[in-house]
Amino acid sequence: MNILITGGSGFIGSFAVKKFVQENHKVLNIDKLTYAGNNKRLISIKNKKNYKFLKKDILDKNIIKVFNKFEPDVIINFAAETHVDNSIKNPLSFLDTNFNGVYNLLKASKSYLEKFNNKKFFFFQISTDEVFGSTKKKSFDEKSPYLPNSPYSASKASADFLVRSWGKTYNLPYIISYCTNNFGPYQDPEKFIPKIILNSIQKKKIPLYGNGKNIRDWTYVEDNIDAIYKICTKGKKNTRYFVSGNNEKTNVQIISNILKKIKKIKGFDPNYLVKNVVDRKGHDFRYSLKTSKNLIKLKWKQKNNFNNNILKTIEWYLKNKNFFSKK
Ligand code: NAD
Repeated sequence: MNILITGGSGFIGSFAVKKFVQENHKVLNIDKLTYAGNNKRLISIKNKKNYKFLKKDILDKNIIKVFNKFEPDVIINFAAETHVDNSIKNPLSFLDTNFNGVYNLLKASKSYLEKFNNKKFFFFQISTDEVFGSTKKKSFDEKSPYLPNSPYSASKASADFLVRSWGKTYNLPYIISYCTNNFGPYQDPEKFIPKIILNSIQKKKIPLYGNGKNIRDWTYVEDNIDAIYKICTKGKKNTRYFVSGNNEKTNVQIISNILKKIKKIKGFDPNYLVKNVVDRKGHDFRYSLKTSKNLIKLKWKQKNNFNNNILKTIEWYLKNKNFFSKK
Protein backbone atom coordinates (compact mmCIF):
# COMPACT_ATOMS: atom_id res chain seq x y z
CA MET A 1 0.00 0.00 0.00
CA ASN A 2 0.95 3.63 -0.44
CA ILE A 3 0.59 4.99 3.08
CA LEU A 4 0.48 8.72 3.72
CA ILE A 5 1.22 9.28 7.40
CA THR A 6 0.83 12.70 9.00
CA GLY A 7 2.61 13.42 12.29
CA GLY A 8 4.98 10.50 11.65
CA SER A 9 7.83 12.28 13.43
CA GLY A 10 5.92 12.27 16.73
CA PHE A 11 5.81 9.57 19.39
CA ILE A 12 3.13 7.13 18.13
CA GLY A 13 3.37 8.18 14.46
CA SER A 14 7.09 7.30 14.33
CA PHE A 15 6.36 3.74 15.52
CA ALA A 16 3.70 3.49 12.80
CA VAL A 17 6.11 4.78 10.13
CA LYS A 18 8.73 2.19 11.19
CA LYS A 19 6.17 -0.63 11.19
CA PHE A 20 4.75 0.14 7.72
CA VAL A 21 8.25 0.65 6.25
CA GLN A 22 9.44 -2.66 7.76
CA GLU A 23 6.40 -4.40 6.26
CA ASN A 24 7.47 -3.07 2.83
CA HIS A 25 4.70 -0.57 2.29
CA LYS A 26 5.58 2.71 0.61
CA VAL A 27 5.43 5.44 3.25
CA LEU A 28 5.36 9.21 2.94
CA ASN A 29 5.57 10.98 6.30
CA ILE A 30 4.43 14.60 6.38
CA ASP A 31 5.12 16.48 9.57
CA LYS A 32 5.44 20.15 10.49
CA LEU A 33 8.12 19.31 13.05
CA THR A 34 6.65 21.26 15.93
CA TYR A 35 8.47 21.03 19.29
CA ALA A 36 6.97 17.49 19.53
CA GLY A 37 8.25 16.28 16.15
CA ASN A 38 11.73 14.80 15.98
CA ASN A 39 13.14 12.81 13.08
CA LYS A 40 15.77 11.25 15.35
CA ARG A 41 12.97 8.81 16.14
CA LEU A 42 13.22 7.59 12.55
CA ILE A 43 16.99 7.21 12.14
CA SER A 44 16.72 3.43 11.73
CA ILE A 45 14.63 3.71 8.54
CA LYS A 46 15.50 7.12 7.15
CA ASN A 47 17.51 5.75 4.21
CA LYS A 48 15.07 3.02 3.21
CA LYS A 49 13.90 3.22 -0.40
CA ASN A 50 10.24 2.88 0.59
CA TYR A 51 10.34 5.87 2.98
CA LYS A 52 10.16 9.59 2.29
CA PHE A 53 9.79 12.60 4.58
CA LEU A 54 8.27 15.94 3.72
CA LYS A 55 8.24 18.85 6.15
CA LYS A 56 4.72 20.24 5.83
CA ASP A 57 1.88 21.65 7.88
CA ILE A 58 -1.41 19.75 7.50
CA LEU A 59 -3.01 23.20 7.24
CA ASP A 60 -1.10 23.89 4.01
CA LYS A 61 -3.64 24.73 1.30
CA ASN A 62 -1.44 23.05 -1.33
CA ILE A 63 -1.51 19.68 0.42
CA ILE A 64 -3.67 18.30 -2.40
CA LYS A 65 -0.52 18.30 -4.59
CA VAL A 66 1.04 15.79 -2.17
CA PHE A 67 -2.01 13.51 -2.54
CA ASN A 68 -2.04 13.74 -6.34
CA LYS A 69 1.67 12.99 -6.59
CA PHE A 70 1.91 10.19 -3.99
CA GLU A 71 -1.50 8.60 -4.77
CA PRO A 72 -2.10 7.18 -1.27
CA ASP A 73 -4.26 4.11 -0.60
CA VAL A 74 -4.75 5.42 2.91
CA ILE A 75 -3.98 8.53 4.93
CA ILE A 76 -3.37 7.90 8.63
CA ASN A 77 -3.68 11.13 10.55
CA PHE A 78 -1.56 11.22 13.70
CA ALA A 79 -0.69 14.92 13.37
CA ALA A 80 -2.06 16.82 16.32
CA GLU A 81 -1.33 19.08 19.23
CA THR A 82 -1.48 16.49 22.00
CA HIS A 83 -0.66 17.84 25.45
CA VAL A 84 -3.79 18.58 27.52
CA ASP A 85 -1.97 21.13 29.73
CA ASN A 86 -0.90 23.09 26.65
CA SER A 87 -4.50 23.04 25.39
CA ILE A 88 -5.61 24.71 28.62
CA LYS A 89 -3.02 27.47 28.18
CA ASN A 90 -3.27 27.86 24.41
CA PRO A 91 -6.42 26.29 22.95
CA LEU A 92 -6.15 28.04 19.58
CA SER A 93 -3.27 25.96 18.23
CA PHE A 94 -5.33 22.85 19.11
CA LEU A 95 -8.29 24.12 17.10
CA ASP A 96 -5.98 25.03 14.21
CA THR A 97 -4.22 21.69 13.86
CA ASN A 98 -6.68 19.22 15.34
CA PHE A 99 -9.81 20.68 13.73
CA ASN A 100 -8.92 22.90 10.77
CA GLY A 101 -5.99 20.62 9.89
CA VAL A 102 -8.35 17.64 9.68
CA TYR A 103 -10.77 19.72 7.59
CA ASN A 104 -7.92 20.52 5.19
CA LEU A 105 -6.93 16.84 4.92
CA LEU A 106 -10.55 15.76 4.36
CA LYS A 107 -10.96 18.40 1.64
CA ALA A 108 -7.80 17.20 -0.09
CA SER A 109 -8.84 13.52 0.28
CA LYS A 110 -12.23 14.23 -1.32
CA SER A 111 -10.73 16.09 -4.25
CA TYR A 112 -8.02 13.39 -4.70
CA LEU A 113 -10.70 10.64 -4.75
CA GLU A 114 -12.77 12.55 -7.30
CA LYS A 115 -9.73 12.76 -9.57
CA PHE A 116 -8.19 9.30 -9.10
CA ASN A 117 -11.17 7.16 -8.05
CA ASN A 118 -8.86 4.96 -5.93
CA LYS A 119 -11.23 2.24 -4.68
CA LYS A 120 -8.85 1.23 -1.87
CA PHE A 121 -8.60 4.69 -0.34
CA PHE A 122 -9.76 5.54 3.18
CA PHE A 123 -9.13 8.24 5.77
CA PHE A 124 -7.84 6.77 9.03
CA GLN A 125 -8.28 9.19 11.93
CA ILE A 126 -6.34 8.50 15.14
CA SER A 127 -8.62 9.55 17.97
CA THR A 128 -8.48 9.16 21.73
CA ASP A 129 -10.57 7.76 24.59
CA GLU A 130 -10.57 11.31 26.00
CA VAL A 131 -13.38 12.33 23.58
CA PHE A 132 -15.79 10.35 25.81
CA GLY A 133 -14.98 12.43 28.89
CA SER A 134 -14.66 10.94 32.34
CA THR A 135 -16.36 7.84 33.76
CA LYS A 136 -16.81 6.64 37.33
CA LYS A 137 -18.21 3.12 36.80
CA LYS A 138 -18.65 1.95 33.20
CA SER A 139 -15.93 1.58 30.58
CA PHE A 140 -16.41 3.53 27.34
CA ASP A 141 -17.62 1.50 24.38
CA GLU A 142 -19.35 1.93 21.01
CA LYS A 143 -22.47 3.26 22.76
CA SER A 144 -20.70 5.98 24.77
CA PRO A 145 -21.64 9.55 23.86
CA TYR A 146 -18.97 12.11 23.10
CA LEU A 147 -18.51 14.28 26.22
CA PRO A 148 -15.09 15.95 25.89
CA ASN A 149 -13.96 18.08 28.83
CA SER A 150 -10.64 19.67 27.83
CA PRO A 151 -9.87 21.90 24.84
CA TYR A 152 -7.63 19.01 23.61
CA SER A 153 -10.39 16.40 23.76
CA ALA A 154 -12.95 18.86 22.36
CA SER A 155 -10.70 19.52 19.36
CA LYS A 156 -10.18 15.76 18.79
CA ALA A 157 -13.94 15.09 19.19
CA SER A 158 -14.76 17.83 16.68
CA ALA A 159 -12.30 16.28 14.23
CA ASP A 160 -14.03 12.89 14.58
CA PHE A 161 -17.37 14.54 13.78
CA LEU A 162 -15.87 16.10 10.66
CA VAL A 163 -14.49 12.72 9.55
CA ARG A 164 -17.85 11.03 10.12
CA SER A 165 -19.72 13.77 8.28
CA TRP A 166 -17.39 13.55 5.25
CA GLY A 167 -18.14 9.84 5.24
CA LYS A 168 -21.92 10.35 5.39
CA THR A 169 -22.16 13.39 3.13
CA TYR A 170 -19.49 12.77 0.50
CA ASN A 171 -19.04 8.97 0.81
CA LEU A 172 -15.44 9.44 1.82
CA PRO A 173 -14.44 6.06 3.32
CA TYR A 174 -13.02 6.40 6.81
CA ILE A 175 -11.96 4.53 9.93
CA ILE A 176 -11.58 6.00 13.42
CA SER A 177 -9.56 4.28 16.14
CA TYR A 178 -9.65 5.28 19.81
CA CYS A 179 -6.82 4.34 22.09
CA THR A 180 -6.13 4.99 25.75
CA ASN A 181 -2.92 6.63 27.07
CA ASN A 182 0.13 5.30 25.23
CA PHE A 183 3.54 4.88 26.81
CA GLY A 184 6.93 3.61 25.72
CA PRO A 185 10.34 4.80 24.53
CA TYR A 186 10.69 8.03 22.49
CA GLN A 187 7.72 9.79 24.14
CA ASP A 188 8.12 13.54 24.61
CA PRO A 189 9.41 14.41 28.12
CA GLU A 190 6.39 16.67 28.76
CA LYS A 191 4.17 13.58 29.15
CA PHE A 192 3.48 11.87 32.51
CA ILE A 193 5.63 8.70 32.38
CA PRO A 194 8.75 10.24 30.75
CA LYS A 195 8.53 13.16 33.18
CA ILE A 196 8.53 10.82 36.20
CA ILE A 197 11.54 8.91 34.85
CA LEU A 198 13.60 11.90 33.71
CA ASN A 199 12.83 14.10 36.72
CA SER A 200 13.73 11.33 39.14
CA ILE A 201 17.12 10.66 37.54
CA GLN A 202 17.81 14.40 37.28
CA LYS A 203 16.64 14.84 40.89
CA LYS A 204 13.97 17.35 39.88
CA LYS A 205 10.53 17.78 41.42
CA ILE A 206 7.96 15.20 40.23
CA PRO A 207 4.61 17.01 40.11
CA LEU A 208 1.50 15.04 41.10
CA TYR A 209 -1.88 16.60 40.30
CA GLY A 210 -4.36 16.82 43.19
CA ASN A 211 -4.63 13.68 45.32
CA GLY A 212 -3.15 11.45 42.59
CA LYS A 213 -6.19 9.19 42.51
CA ASN A 214 -7.12 9.93 38.90
CA ILE A 215 -7.19 6.77 36.81
CA ARG A 216 -5.86 6.24 33.30
CA ASP A 217 -5.72 3.12 31.19
CA TRP A 218 -2.21 2.56 29.82
CA THR A 219 -1.46 0.94 26.45
CA TYR A 220 2.07 0.06 25.40
CA VAL A 221 2.75 1.94 22.17
CA GLU A 222 3.69 -1.25 20.28
CA ASP A 223 0.30 -2.80 21.16
CA ASN A 224 -1.43 0.26 19.70
CA ILE A 225 0.72 0.04 16.56
CA ASP A 226 -0.13 -3.62 16.22
CA ALA A 227 -3.83 -2.66 16.39
CA ILE A 228 -3.38 0.21 13.91
CA TYR A 229 -1.54 -2.11 11.48
CA LYS A 230 -4.26 -4.76 11.68
CA ILE A 231 -7.03 -2.18 11.30
CA CYS A 232 -5.27 -0.59 8.34
CA THR A 233 -4.60 -3.81 6.46
CA LYS A 234 -7.65 -5.90 7.42
CA GLY A 235 -10.18 -3.48 8.93
CA LYS A 236 -13.61 -2.57 7.62
CA LYS A 237 -14.21 0.89 6.22
CA ASN A 238 -16.70 3.27 7.85
CA THR A 239 -16.28 1.68 11.27
CA ARG A 240 -14.71 2.54 14.59
CA TYR A 241 -12.20 0.50 16.58
CA PHE A 242 -11.52 0.75 20.32
CA VAL A 243 -8.04 -0.10 21.58
CA SER A 244 -7.71 -0.64 25.33
CA GLY A 245 -4.60 -1.50 27.30
CA ASN A 246 -6.85 -3.24 29.84
CA ASN A 247 -4.50 -1.79 32.36
CA GLU A 248 -5.99 0.89 34.59
CA LYS A 249 -3.81 2.56 37.20
CA THR A 250 -4.08 5.59 39.44
CA ASN A 251 -1.40 8.22 38.92
CA VAL A 252 -0.02 7.38 42.37
CA GLN A 253 0.33 3.72 41.36
CA ILE A 254 2.21 4.70 38.19
CA ILE A 255 4.61 6.94 40.13
CA SER A 256 5.28 4.36 42.83
CA ASN A 257 5.80 1.56 40.25
CA ILE A 258 8.38 3.63 38.36
CA LEU A 259 10.15 4.97 41.44
CA LYS A 260 10.54 1.47 42.92
CA LYS A 261 12.24 0.34 39.70
CA ILE A 262 14.48 3.41 39.61
CA LYS A 263 15.45 2.85 43.24
CA LYS A 264 16.51 -0.69 42.34
CA ILE A 265 18.51 0.38 39.28
CA LYS A 266 20.09 3.60 40.60
CA GLY A 267 20.41 2.77 44.28
CA PHE A 268 18.65 5.86 45.67
CA ASP A 269 15.05 6.48 46.66
CA PRO A 270 13.54 9.30 44.53
CA ASN A 271 10.25 9.37 46.49
CA TYR A 272 11.17 12.65 48.22
CA LEU A 273 10.93 14.38 44.80
CA VAL A 274 7.16 13.81 44.49
CA LYS A 275 5.28 17.06 45.12
CA ASN A 276 1.51 17.48 45.11
CA VAL A 277 0.54 20.42 42.92
CA VAL A 278 -2.77 22.21 42.29
CA ASP A 279 -5.03 19.95 40.25
CA ARG A 280 -5.34 20.40 36.48
CA LYS A 281 -8.39 22.51 35.53
CA GLY A 282 -11.30 20.23 34.57
CA HIS A 283 -9.17 17.17 35.31
CA ASP A 284 -10.97 14.02 34.10
CA PHE A 285 -11.19 11.50 36.94
CA ARG A 286 -11.10 8.22 35.03
CA TYR A 287 -10.61 7.00 31.48
CA SER A 288 -11.59 3.41 30.85
CA LEU A 289 -12.19 1.77 27.48
CA LYS A 290 -13.44 -1.62 26.38
CA THR A 291 -11.64 -3.15 23.40
CA SER A 292 -14.21 -3.41 20.59
CA LYS A 293 -15.31 -6.83 19.32
CA ASN A 294 -14.40 -5.89 15.74
CA LEU A 295 -10.78 -5.46 16.87
CA ILE A 296 -10.75 -8.80 18.69
CA LYS A 297 -12.04 -10.31 15.42
CA LEU A 298 -8.90 -9.01 13.72
CA LYS A 299 -7.00 -11.20 16.20
CA TRP A 300 -5.66 -8.26 18.17
CA LYS A 301 -4.89 -8.65 21.83
CA GLN A 302 -2.87 -6.39 24.09
CA LYS A 303 0.27 -8.21 25.25
CA ASN A 304 -0.18 -6.25 28.43
CA ASN A 305 2.97 -7.03 30.28
CA PHE A 306 2.92 -3.69 32.05
CA ASN A 307 5.88 -4.26 34.36
CA ASN A 308 8.18 -5.41 31.57
CA ASN A 309 7.08 -2.58 29.31
CA ILE A 310 7.61 0.04 32.02
CA LEU A 311 11.05 -1.42 32.68
CA LYS A 312 11.91 -1.33 28.96
CA THR A 313 10.72 2.29 28.88
CA ILE A 314 12.81 3.27 31.93
CA GLU A 315 15.89 1.57 30.47
CA TRP A 316 15.42 3.42 27.18
CA TYR A 317 15.29 6.81 28.98
CA LEU A 318 18.33 5.93 31.07
CA LYS A 319 20.30 5.14 27.90
CA ASN A 320 18.94 8.13 25.98
CA LYS A 321 18.97 10.90 28.59
CA ASN A 322 19.92 13.54 26.02
CA PHE A 323 17.70 12.35 23.19
CA PHE A 324 15.39 15.35 23.47
CA SER A 325 17.97 18.00 24.32
CA LYS A 326 18.93 18.86 20.72
CA LYS A 327 17.07 18.16 17.50
P1 NAD B 1 3.06 13.81 19.52
O1 NAD B 1 2.74 15.13 20.14
O2 NAD B 1 4.20 13.03 20.04
O3 NAD B 1 3.30 14.01 17.95
C1 NAD B 1 2.49 14.82 17.15
C2 NAD B 1 3.19 15.01 15.82
O4 NAD B 1 2.35 15.82 14.97
C3 NAD B 1 4.53 15.74 15.93
O5 NAD B 1 5.51 15.09 15.15
C4 NAD B 1 4.23 17.14 15.38
O6 NAD B 1 5.37 17.74 14.77
C5 NAD B 1 3.15 16.82 14.36
N1 NAD B 1 2.30 17.99 14.08
C6 NAD B 1 1.70 18.81 14.98
N2 NAD B 1 1.01 19.77 14.34
C7 NAD B 1 1.17 19.55 13.01
C8 NAD B 1 0.70 20.19 11.84
N3 NAD B 1 -0.07 21.29 11.90
N4 NAD B 1 1.05 19.70 10.63
C9 NAD B 1 1.85 18.59 10.54
N5 NAD B 1 2.34 17.95 11.61
C10 NAD B 1 1.99 18.42 12.83
O7 NAD B 1 1.70 12.97 19.57
P2 NAD B 1 1.46 11.42 19.87
O8 NAD B 1 1.44 11.21 21.32
O9 NAD B 1 2.35 10.62 19.00
O10 NAD B 1 -0.05 11.28 19.34
C11 NAD B 1 -0.33 10.98 17.97
C12 NAD B 1 -1.84 10.93 17.78
O11 NAD B 1 -2.41 9.94 18.63
C13 NAD B 1 -2.55 12.23 18.11
O12 NAD B 1 -3.55 12.45 17.14
C14 NAD B 1 -3.16 11.99 19.47
O13 NAD B 1 -4.34 12.75 19.64
C15 NAD B 1 -3.47 10.51 19.39
N6 NAD B 1 -3.47 9.82 20.69
C16 NAD B 1 -2.38 9.89 21.51
C17 NAD B 1 -2.37 9.20 22.72
C18 NAD B 1 -1.17 9.23 23.64
O14 NAD B 1 -1.26 8.73 24.76
N7 NAD B 1 -0.03 9.78 23.24
C19 NAD B 1 -3.49 8.43 23.10
C20 NAD B 1 -4.59 8.37 22.23
C21 NAD B 1 -4.57 9.07 21.03
